[in-house]
Amino acid sequence: MENERSDSGDVTAETYWFDRYNTEETFDMDACFRAFDKDGDGYLNFSEFHSVCRALFRNDKGKIYSMEPKKLQDVLSVFDRNKDGQIDREEFAFCWNNWIKKIVRPVSVFLVVDVQNDFISGTLNISHCSARQNGAEVVEPINRLLETVEFDAVFYSLDWHPSDHVSFIDNLPQRKLHESSPVSTEEAKTYDTVVFEGPPPMKQRLWPRHCVQDSWGAELHKDLKIVEKSIKVCKGTNPEVDSYSVFWDNKKLTETTLVSQLQEKNATDIYICGLAYDVCVGATAADALAIGYRTILIDDCSRGVDLKDIEKTKNTVTSNNGVIVDSSQVKAMVEGRDRRPELGYKLAMELKGAISHKST
Ligand SMILES: [Zn+2]
Repeated sequence: MENERSDSGDVTAETYWFDRYNTEETFDMDACFRAFDKDGDGYLNFSEFHSVCRALFRNDKGKIYSMEPKKLQDVLSVFDRNKDGQIDREEFAFCWNNWIKKIVRPVSVFLVVDVQNDFISGTLNISHCSARQNGAEVVEPINRLLETVEFDAVFYSLDWHPSDHVSFIDNLPQRKLHESSPVSTEEAKTYDTVVFEGPPPMKQRLWPRHCVQDSWGAELHKDLKIVEKSIKVCKGTNPEVDSYSVFWDNKKLTETTLVSQLQEKNATDIYICGLAYDVCVGATAADALAIGYRTILIDDCSRGVDLKDIEKTKNTVTSNNGVIVDSSQVKAMVEGRDRRPELGYKLAMELKGAISHKST
């Protein structure tokens, strides 16, 4: 206990380096390096690098998030480019510019997925699905975030289908099914999955007609706050392919405008929420992680279709180094005062990929 106390006392002093950088324009990287190089040998060894991480990964109330030794070692070896088991000044400069800076001053984007009439009270009202969740409940917590948190950019996605869209069950007779389809055109019911002939053959879940371009059902909920300079992203516009993710259609044939707009803004962190948790929100979060973004799913700002699938979505996010948070935690994270080790680990692994890609 005594030990633990003096330990966290040390870290509080060291945290100064990151908290100060968080609020001030300039920062003395060398002084920071010297502060953590306790034995003054010009290198950060494992224990000294551990102290860096203990100072870095904390919440806004000073609670230290621990990182398991194996992961700590993984991170250290990303920055230990000459593989001598420690971090020299040059390696620390890379670590500082590409890792610490982004953790302390993230560029955060808020992505509100498909908060549209049809999913709330229209033809694909999710409250009629097995999880019996009310989509309207996301509006209030999302508005609160929009009013209180300074995101670097805000995006609203819209499911935006032409009338002959492949996902509508009433359009089923328009296209041939493949012989491998588990149900026939005559037997198929809403929410069943069929296989269209293609070519190539394509799996598709059948939904009621929803979010038809320019219809009331495709409009964002009337109470959802639309902030100035926000950007709308339409998806599902190709009649032949469905699009759950806001990044790409389900066959990854075409990317939406989101991909280039995130690059333009140098986004590091993406906060995702909306409707439906286990369909478009989940697919978008999975893609954000796959592209390499630090990804945060906001649980209480999302509602879904099926409880088991919602659990699967959560597992996908956390097992790929994303995090699931409550909206009350978002502000401190966006301001770099609540710094999560999972997201630090994710970024380090991305840098590892980038470095090894460069050297081959
Ligand atoms: Zn749709």
